Amino acid sequence: MIDETHDSKRRSWVESANLDGCDFPIQNLPLGVFRVQGENRTRIGVAIGDDILDVGAWLGGNSLNAYFALPATQRRDLRRKWSITLDRGATKRPLYSQSQCEMLMPAVVGDYTDFYASIHHATTVGRMFRPDNPLLPNYKHVPIAYHGRSSSLVLSGTPVKRPAGQLGEGKFGPTRELDYEMEIGAFLGPGNELGKPIPIGEAQQHIAGVCLVNDWSARDIQRWEYQPLGPFLAKNFATSVSPWVVTIEALEPFRTSASTHDVAVLPYLQESGESAFDITVEVWLRTRTMTESVRISRANFRDMYWTLGQMVAHHTCNGCPLRPGDLIASGTVSGPEKENRGCLLEMTWKGTEPLRLPNGEERTFLEDGDEVILTGYCQRDGFARIGLGSCRGSIVAG
Ligand code: MN
Repeated sequence: MIDETHDSKRRSWVESANLDGCDFPIQNLPLGVFRVQGENRTRIGVAIGDDILDVGAWLGGNSLNAYFALPATQRRDLRRKWSITLDRGATKRPLYSQSQCEMLMPAVVGDYTDFYASIHHATTVGRMFRPDNPLLPNYKHVPIAYHGRSSSLVLSGTPVKRPAGQLGEGKFGPTRELDYEMEIGAFLGPGNELGKPIPIGEAQQHIAGVCLVNDWSARDIQRWEYQPLGPFLAKNFATSVSPWVVTIEALEPFRTSASTHDVAVLPYLQESGESAFDITVEVWLRTRTMTESVRISRANFRDMYWTLGQMVAHHTCNGCPLRPGDLIASGTVSGPEKENRGCLLEMTWKGTEPLRLPNGEERTFLEDGDEVILTGYCQRDGFARIGLGSCRGSIVAG
């Protein structure tokens, strides 16, 4: 539902929010959890320009879990209130500068599930290992996922230690094929009780907001361990999430048609309306010798084969309960072209075609000291551009 909070003419009394290219204009209003430098107190806030509005008067607690548990109508009411509070005509209130605050994990995540929803990613990776038959026969029928670990979710900025593991028969040591995966994460709203599936028509109302997710992956460990049960230690050593949760309400103007399917899906996955989101995602890399990061790929979330709604409907079709603050991630967001590939495994064709960086360096996989920065934004004529902020992580020796 598009309303006055999305009006592109709306301006804030916070001047930094009105600047072109700002991720957090008044039309965005993402939520996060923060601490002011020198204080012990944990606060909940809304990002506006370079600042943060403490919204503790409207939302209690030390995490966004209580917010996520609210029905969609109440989430919309809060958005309207914050939009009015920050509107140019309103009385100014105290703010905190983002540069003087430490961001914290936005939610206490009970469970984390990672999907595999990009057909471009699945096809490219499949082609590396099965050139004649890249896409497995189930792909267009069932959204593929695995259960990840919430215990190793870390906030953007947390260093990522190179993991050790089994690299083949009789081999144990630090991974030599450390990779990132550019993903969109979705925080669950109210959720469902055990035994009660969420129907596809209601599934999107159970998504409260999105963030950027880096599903760090050790490809050599993954190759050795993944059959027959799927990813395990190659994935659960660290998964980074961005601090600001962009609400599903803020994304309304950027709805678009989902990818067309040439194979009909079962009724419980048939979704109507504009069920995908137009979100541009970018991967930037900064090696130890570089002063500035360089963009190495760009893709769009609308190119995913499965939507967030289909993921929720599928996840619960057996009665599995999803709870407020649970995180589902989309899987690597890749597009049809080489420059749209959302991980190094794809970009370097499993390490056989090194990526050449502008300073002459080459990468097949990540090296110690490399920093990976994920960004995302939505842009459409007639609406204000909104951003997802960034999700960063630097590799440290194992
Ligand atoms: Mn993944």
